[in-house]
Amino acid sequence: MTFEITILGCGAATPTLKHNASSQVVNIHDKLFLMDCGEGTQIQLRKYKIKFQRIQHIFISHLHGDHYLGLVGLISSLHLLGRKNDLHIYGPSELKEIIELNLRVSQTYLDYFIHYHAVNFESKEKIFEDHSLEIHSFPLKHRIPCVGYLFAEKPKQIKIRKEYINRYSLQPSEIIALKNGQSITTPKNIVVTPQEVCDAPEKSKSYAYCSDTMYWETLIPSIQGVDLLYHESTFLESEKERAKHTFHSTAAQAATIALKAGVGKLLLGHYSSRYAEEEEFVNEASVIFPNCDFSTEGKIIQV
Ligand SMILES: [Zn+2]
Ligand SMILES: [Zn+2]
Repeated sequence: MTFEITILGCGAATPTLKHNASSQVVNIHDKLFLMDCGEGTQIQLRKYKIKFQRIQHIFISHLHGDHYLGLVGLISSLHLLGRKNDLHIYGPSELKEIIELNLRVSQTYLDYFIHYHAVNFESKEKIFEDHSLEIHSFPLKHRIPCVGYLFAEKPKQIKIRKEYINRYSLQPSEIIALKNGQSITTPKNIVVTPQEVCDAPEKSKSYAYCSDTMYWETLIPSIQGVDLLYHESTFLESEKERAKHTFHSTAAQAATIALKAGVGKLLLGHYSSRYAEEEEFVNEASVIFPNCDFSTEGKIIQV
């Protein structure tokens, strides 16, 4: 089952020739979720051949420009390209006003409907659920109100191997009983046990997106044990004071959060333009938390 992240932008503050502003596509079972939408995001979607009409849910972390200034442009392009399907936008409540003002002054009347979902900046909250997935928002600590997002697959179904279904001619009611942990007796008086015919369910995976935030241990319970954690690392430890002053984190601080939260893997990003190489961030973080990687535009990370 697909569960992967495509990095569209991972630079802080302003777009540069090296990095685009923050944005990622999360693909879970071929459903596409857009995380933040910095300036130029729609060009990045084209560049990496992501079918953006398939995006139904957009999640904005906060209202610093490097995380949402591409949103009005994307909404407009979706309209010009003939979108009819509803779009759901999660984020600060002011987004509705910002978007509607832009549409009103340009006399743009969308052919599709936008559902606005205002997030809670005080506590963790479930904001989306379907048969296989839950999405939560949770507070981060930044200069203005900001949330992270957690994607967690629900427990997966127990599967019965096809060879056994054929061998014992299992009927739907028998399959349900076996999946519920009960043994059954076939018409030929053979006892079939779940242990014999069921495969253990696949492990459910999870991904947490934390941008932007200062070092803040309060967020740890919200991301405990996730398989992949994206945590901003705007600075290196040499700029630790600047990180604190601007409500951002260093690579070492991101690694400390990853370690204390017991996550599987750490992904770094949201780099200040003062640094030339992404590897510098990994070098610093991996001393504390070895299983870490850097984001860069176009990179796909499997969860
Ligand atoms: Zn930012
Ligand atoms: Zn910010």
